[in-house]
Amino acid sequence: GSKILKSFKEGLKKTRDALGLSDFAGRQVDESLFEELEERLILADVGVSTTLKLIEELRKEAKKKKIKTSDELLEIMKEKLKAILKNCKGELNLTEKPSVILVLGVNGVGKTTTIGKLAKQLKDSGLSVVLAAADTFRAAAIEQLEVWAERAGARIVKGQEGTDPAAVVFDAIQSIKAKGEDVLIVDTAGRLHNKQNLMKEIHKIKKVIAREFPGQPAEILLVLDANTGQNAISQAKTFKEITDVTGIALTKLDGTAKGGIVIAICNELKIPIKFVGIGEKIEDLRKFDPNEFVESLFE
Ligand code: GDP
Repeated sequence: GSKILKSFKEGLKKTRDALGLSDFAGRQVDESLFEELEERLILADVGVSTTLKLIEELRKEAKKKKIKTSDELLEIMKEKLKAILKNCKGELNLTEKPSVILVLGVNGVGKTTTIGKLAKQLKDSGLSVVLAAADTFRAAAIEQLEVWAERAGARIVKGQEGTDPAAVVFDAIQSIKAKGEDVLIVDTAGRLHNKQNLMKEIHKIKKVIAREFPGQPAEILLVLDANTGQNAISQAKTFKEITDVTGIALTKLDGTAKGGIVIAICNELKIPIKFVGIGEKIEDLRKFDPNEFVESLFE
């Protein structure tokens, strides 16, 4: 409803301010306008290559259509952004029963929180949800996931700190099969600095899943923190080298001026953005809606 849209707009305030598109109202289209626009887009972390491409297209179109006013130009820009982002809209694929969702991401990006929020949404839609605590490296990670499982009303399967993560996933799979539950969300360790180990660990988990459910995991969701700006892009590139990624959950869009990263992610990574996080609370996870996002930047 409109209340949710309002909170989304509030969440994007800092990015909207960084872009400051309202400053461009009522101006003439000239070289300085393009230059300022370019600067603002880069400032909001749209990314240099994406920005240059966008500005170049705007220049051409302005010339071709003999655009005189900034208002017309901004309208074209809005449509262009919507068109770019439409390619990156994606829904969660939960056609299998059970469906396994593997969740990846560097520590601190909001992985646990996102899993909790997602579990709640799926529960609310009538599915039974189980969490597997396969980040067994830190006891605190297991405890945090337990807190979120409780909040979401989801069952959790866990092992001792230091247990083989794949063994936790194996146990979780056996129990969801026995109980006939719908969705298994697997938390994983986020130690990207030890890429070889992480790769081995993830591949082992994937094997355990695929052995029981051929063709799965149904989703491999990568969690990225919008606050980290361009760094989120390089994290995603590294994870793509480790495994396929079927979707992105972009957290902390609230409270960052770097929300333009959504556009950079879409343009540079070509991975669907399935969710955006706009706060710390359990209800603060939204399906990514390109139109809602773009409109919120312009108002
Ligand atoms: P993890 O280490 O990746 O599992 O990260 P956590 O889920 O523990 O989250 C790290 C911090 O980010 C916590 O303080 C969360 O409350 C916060 N956080 C997660 N998602 C969001 C979000 O969408 N918005 C805001 N403002 N904070 C978030």
